[in-house]
Amino acid sequence: MDIPLTRTWITTVATTIAEQSDYLTQLDSAIGDADHGVNMNRGFSAVVAALDGYEATSVGDVLLRTGTTLVSRVGGASGPLYGTAFRAMGKVLDGTDVDDRDVAAALRAGLEGLQKLGAAVPGDKTIVDAYAPALEAFDSDLDNGGTLASAASAAADAARDGMRGTTAMQARKGRASYLGPRSVGHQDPGATSTWLIFRALAEVTDRAAPSTVEA
Ligand code: ADP
Ligand code: MG
Repeated sequence: MDIPLTRTWITTVATTIAEQSDYLTQLDSAIGDADHGVNMNRGFSAVVAALDGYEATSVGDVLLRTGTTLVSRVGGASGPLYGTAFRAMGKVLDGTDVDDRDVAAALRAGLEGLQKLGAAVPGDKTIVDAYAPALEAFDSDLDNGGTLASAASAAADAARDGMRGTTAMQARKGRASYLGPRSVGHQDPGATSTWLIFRALAEVTDRAAPSTVEA
């Protein structure tokens, strides 16, 4: 994964978040304060502006700038959490073209940073419930001889399943936890935005992958 592909990932996340902003906010209106789409869209619009014309020196530099912008521009819980995750990813990717295992290690560092800050574990009905299975799927796809694109695709599928699994959970972290048992029966907004982020990674790595069919 090189600098241009990393930038394309982030700008694709921004486009997806903008498209799904109302949906994310609608999910947050059921168990939160109806601002998740607004928060994410504000954050990623600021990220696109911050990356525009920015001469990144490494893959990690793109992700560090993304994370720093999210931390400073998003007021909700999700800004510091995602911001910390992207910053943690950025800190371990100092090359201009990193290999698939480096990406896996960065995704792991991102989850660790997010969990260190938010103290959520699987089952708490948060971002972690999409992110943790995504990371696991990413790693095992590489272990089975996969490529960046296939690992990202497996991760996106696992994030989607994890996201769906949050519906049955009772929230134990964040605003939704104030609802207690009434949080059950609603899909978690943060797990949903995490799926969108992994889906964007799957899309851009698939497009960048060497084609097996002659055009
Ligand atoms: P806020 O809750 O401050 O309004 P957002 O609406 O932007 O912030 O984000 C809500 C999402 O943040 C939740 O759906 C949940 O997935 C995620 N979240 C909240 N607290 C935590 C936490 N401690 N760890 C991981 N994710 C969390
Ligand atoms: Mg909210």
